[in-house]
Amino acid sequence: MKPIKHFRHAKSKISLKFKIWLYFVIFTVIVLALLWIFQIFFLERFYKGIKARTAVESMDIIAESFMSDNKDEFYRTVDEVALENELCVEVTDRYGRHIYKKHVLADCIIHNLNNENNRIIDEIDDSENGIIKKMPQNKRTGAPTLICGMRLGSAKAPQGYLIINSALAPVEATVAIIKRQLMFITTLLIIIAFIISLYLAKRISAPIDRITKSAERLAKGDFTTKFDGRGYLEAKKLADTLTYAEKELSKVDMMQRDLIANVSHDLRTPLTMLKAYAEMIRDLSGDNPVKRNEHLEIIISETDRLALLVNDMLDLSKLESGRQKLTPSEFGISGKLSEIIDRFKGLSEKNGYTINFTPDEERIVCCDTVKIEQVIYNLINNAINYTGDDKQVFVRQINTDDGVIVEVEDTGDGIEEDKIKLIFDKYYRSENHKREVVGTGLGLSIVKAVLKMHNYDYGVRSTLGKGSTFWFKISDVRKQD
Ligand code: ADP
Repeated sequence: MKPIKHFRHAKSKISLKFKIWLYFVIFTVIVLALLWIFQIFFLERFYKGIKARTAVESMDIIAESFMSDNKDEFYRTVDEVALENELCVEVTDRYGRHIYKKHVLADCIIHNLNNENNRIIDEIDDSENGIIKKMPQNKRTGAPTLICGMRLGSAKAPQGYLIINSALAPVEATVAIIKRQLMFITTLLIIIAFIISLYLAKRISAPIDRITKSAERLAKGDFTTKFDGRGYLEAKKLADTLTYAEKELSKVDMMQRDLIANVSHDLRTPLTMLKAYAEMIRDLSGDNPVKRNEHLEIIISETDRLALLVNDMLDLSKLESGRQKLTPSEFGISGKLSEIIDRFKGLSEKNGYTINFTPDEERIVCCDTVKIEQVIYNLINNAINYTGDDKQVFVRQINTDDGVIVEVEDTGDGIEEDKIKLIFDKYYRSENHKREVVGTGLGLSIVKAVLKMHNYDYGVRSTLGKGSTFWFKISDVRKQD
């Protein structure tokens, strides 16, 4: 395999480590910014909002209780609401005279308002649903205060006026304390974020750095590289995937070397012969027709062998590359077997071979016709090549519930038990045969590759001295009614 010499790295110059660190720091800054915004800048607005909402809710409860006509119940409600929310509650008539009051707040300002009360009542009357306002700083305590008011009873003829005073504690002091705390927290968080993000970035990028280094070694052709994906699941998955890719690449590399070695060996022999006999015709036998024909015959048969070898090699490499797809079609298996056997007729008649065919009922099968034809062809061809002196070959079609078994039997020497495993291997050829057989050692490898692609079972039964039966089972058959 050609090693890759130059790597083109992606355009991004920012490393993963830096990115992780940066994201973590950005995240921390955002969290801190939110904290500052809500704790410092919006605290006062937030606090006033809550106070105003509490005051309005308290007024609603008191107003509802006022309408119940149960005086004791009403007084109790006013007391409870005032206590619970630290309020001053005044219920007056149109002229500011008390109907009921409850002052929980120490420096309540509404009873000091006197005339002010009347002004507030005027404001309530002018309003649609009531008033809510922040009064200027309480002169005595210096604290701002919140005044709310509403009519009790109907809007046109109010039976009373409800005025509530809720203290607004100054938040400046609290904000100052929080500010100091936040400054401390911010500094601490930034330092912690900096350290943690550095540590995390290192931890996350370490396996990727390791795997990248290994991948670079692999790209240079080192198939023994180990991919270490320790750390976390994604890195482990990446390492496993690369280990798998490495295994596959090394297989391809081996196959390539293997092929080159075998091809150069297998091609060299016939080529040497061709050259030698051509030279012989030129130098010696050119004028001797008998010798010349003999030499030409050898050249022709060597050329045939060469063509056979090249074709088989091409077929097998196409099948093994995985780029060839199956193109299934339906056909009758009995018809197909007869057709293939007929093709051998010329040869069998010439050389005295008999192919005995035992068909079963016609069955429609669905598979890649061309490839399955090649399987049958190779098996029959082998059976003819290796059968015994009686020159008999038997082809059988056996229908089963879930498929069709095709058997090809010969009466040859049979295959030794320990060789059966090897015969489907590429370039395996046994030299142990009586006849000189023209072959490439690729026929059964092609059979195996095609049957594996189809996912069909196949095998061989063999008895030494009696013969062998090669079989395969087509399992894609049209359902019988
Ligand atoms: P080739 O026949 O070209 O040598 P194959 O791949 O078809 O290549 O077969 C590989 C080997 O398996 C053969 O060399 C032979 O030793 C053995 N073999 C194949 N078919 C038979 C058979 N029918 N009987 C005995 N041996 C066989």
